[in-house]
Amino acid sequence: MSALDIQYGFIFFLIASYTLQFWLSRRQIQHVLSHRSAVPEAFADKISLEAHQKAADYTVTRNKFGLLELSFSTIILALWTIGGGLQFLDDSVRTFNYSPIVTGIMVILGLSIVSGILDIPFNLYRTFVIEEKFGFNRLTLSMFFTDMIKQTIIMLIIGIPFLYFVLWLMDDASPYWWLYVWGSWFGFSMLMMWLYPAVIAPIFNKFTPLEEPELKNKISNLLERCGFTSNGVFIMDGSKRSSHGNAYFTGFGNNKRIVFFDTLVNSLKHDEIEAVLAHELGHFKRNHIKKRILTMALMSLGGLALLAWLIDQSFIYEGLGVTEPSFYMALILFMLVTPVISIFLNPLFSLLSRKHEFEADDFAAQNTDANNLITALVKLYEENSNTLTPDPIYSAFYDSHPPAPVRIAHLAKSG
Ligand SMILES: [Zn+2]
Repeated sequence: MSALDIQYGFIFFLIASYTLQFWLSRRQIQHVLSHRSAVPEAFADKISLEAHQKAADYTVTRNKFGLLELSFSTIILALWTIGGGLQFLDDSVRTFNYSPIVTGIMVILGLSIVSGILDIPFNLYRTFVIEEKFGFNRLTLSMFFTDMIKQTIIMLIIGIPFLYFVLWLMDDASPYWWLYVWGSWFGFSMLMMWLYPAVIAPIFNKFTPLEEPELKNKISNLLERCGFTSNGVFIMDGSKRSSHGNAYFTGFGNNKRIVFFDTLVNSLKHDEIEAVLAHELGHFKRNHIKKRILTMALMSLGGLALLAWLIDQSFIYEGLGVTEPSFYMALILFMLVTPVISIFLNPLFSLLSRKHEFEADDFAAQNTDANNLITALVKLYEENSNTLTPDPIYSAFYDSHPPAPVRIAHLAKSG
């Protein structure tokens, strides 16, 4: 194989992944629009035509904007790689004559800063035009930028030392560097998962322990019934940023937390909150979290082994627009190019995720009343303006959760 083969191969995948995503979004837009005029029969007595049409318009607007973003990011990726952007950045940093590790960190920082700045207009538009128009946005401009600054500082404090360590392992070039990088990356991710609920999340939101006695009682009963111990149930002030509602589990080991957005607690009845929580517990009890961590670990091990195999092939760098190979360029190219190829695995991961959602729903149906989860879901679909009529192919490709009608029919059967 030659550099030219790599270049043609990359362009082929770039166009193929772009075309596929474009086609899927077009399908989604057309499908949602063609079902806009009437509420699906199964929801006719549950959701108003007005809410249904708002969900359709919201879905279409976001998908159209997504197409613009996709086109832009594809062009930018081409410019960084075969357009010579990375090589130009590397050449500029090399003039400072720092050590290879420091040069690598500066190149990665430069890339992240430029990418971050290019993303700002898109994030601004999404938040202050789209979310605003549909009544979901609660952010002010100053909060938007404060969040961004906080995220950047956290990323620098945590990311740079870790990056330094990884680049040091790569530079040291023991034959097993990729195993060491994998081990440290895995340990680092676990540490972050453990630290996140108690240390990082509170930098952005306020978490108040759930006090309401009746609900608290209901929840402790459920936890006890399911044999689950956690570090508490918290309400998060999600309404500070958006009126979208959610519930989630975070952390692991002795640092597990159950978090409800205040928006969710305010719109659901106690029985419904209990059912949503039972669904989340189902993910834990059916070992979905462990399976997800294991999948992530195996994928990254495979990825790093592949990187170790490719790292000495200078024609690959050249085919991707980098004329001066180095260990940090290998890492950067790997991070940039992998998504163009791995997107084709998306349907597989979505399928797996939907299977887990069904299992968690089954768990909820066994431990609470399935009808409560159904009414909770209908409320959540309505309040978040999630479409009830996604395109089947789009949904199979992207959706981590089964489409609303399928999911509710499944619950109704097990209830
Ligand atoms: Zn779930």
